[in-house]
Amino acid sequence: MKPIGEIALIEQIRREFPTARRSGSGALRLGIGDDCAILRPPPGHEVLVTTDFTLESRHFDRRLHPPESAGHRALARGLSDLAAMGATPMAVFLSLALPPDLLASAQGRAWLRRFFHGLRALAALHRVPLAGGDTSESPVGARGGPGLDNTGLILADIVLVGSAPSGKALRRSGASPGDLLYVTGHLGGAAAELAGLTPSSLRVKTPRNALDPSRHPQLFPVPRVEVGRTLLRRNLASAAIDLSDGLSTDLAHLCRASGVAAEVEETLLPLHPLLRRLEAPRAVNLALNGGEDYELLFSAPPSARVPRSIAGVSITRIGRLTKQKPDARKTGAPFVTLIQQNAVKKPLKPAGWEHFSTNSGHKSTLS
Ligand SMILES: [Mg+2]
Repeated sequence: MKPIGEIALIEQIRREFPTARRSGSGALRLGIGDDCAILRPPPGHEVLVTTDFTLESRHFDRRLHPPESAGHRALARGLSDLAAMGATPMAVFLSLALPPDLLASAQGRAWLRRFFHGLRALAALHRVPLAGGDTSESPVGARGGPGLDNTGLILADIVLVGSAPSGKALRRSGASPGDLLYVTGHLGGAAAELAGLTPSSLRVKTPRNALDPSRHPQLFPVPRVEVGRTLLRRNLASAAIDLSDGLSTDLAHLCRASGVAAEVEETLLPLHPLLRRLEAPRAVNLALNGGEDYELLFSAPPSARVPRSIAGVSITRIGRLTKQKPDARKTGAPFVTLIQQNAVKKPLKPAGWEHFSTNSGHKSTLS
């Protein structure tokens, strides 16, 4: 079978994402088909941009993640970043590098179709049009890679553009000592599901109700876009971040940016139902450090009336922010203290992990 060329691939993308051609409505003035896309944010709004690189065998495993999940997750990461700042998605850009074997085999093309399907389903849910991108053949190393046919890797680069009222986007840096700390949804589910994935997981399709992450928090996480927008609109949050790397790591980011410390109460953590069959220490460990939950973590002053649920998503208070010790930055003391079930306090070090990393298990991240 002859590999499909770049033009044919772009044609396929245009077919798969019909909204990409629709222009002149909403924020997208001009989509795929010219040298640039043209976007217009609503009057009085600023533009927010986030990028995420999704690499095979680092962010997904072709032997464990269904293609729909790889597409869904690639988009979910960026949507979650927009959610963390209270932004409304305007457009998504997708650049793909694909190994030649993927384009040459029927099996590979089926993989690609299912990848697009997963991405498109989540994009449709959030009404975010695909506005452009690029395609390329990914290089094949001398020793090959861990891809399906041992010849190369799939790389997907996503750029998401959103808008928020000028000066109002939620940031990591607005929290004060005394603020209360909240999370959306449940914690630890993504890591728990990942631990149980097998090749038969490849048969899992996008759930009909993709707004319900209770069954597949790893394969189909739900970015909390509507919660973020509501927090911004109602002026509820003093600071916010999304939980991509794990509570211990992302809370430390928020503390550093705000110049505060935090206390988290173990008994308040909303453990994901998938953790219920695990022993307590492992369940708590996954909730604190598991990562990839794509829930929102935010702070709010005690006077704020934070509802128990927003847009159908539960909101749980898990602790509070405190003053940073004056020498904390110099001594490198952890920002976060965990109040354990037995009321004993212990420092909580950032220990979020990167699931497919071959080295230390820690990842460096720019955002
Ligand atoms: Mg983020």
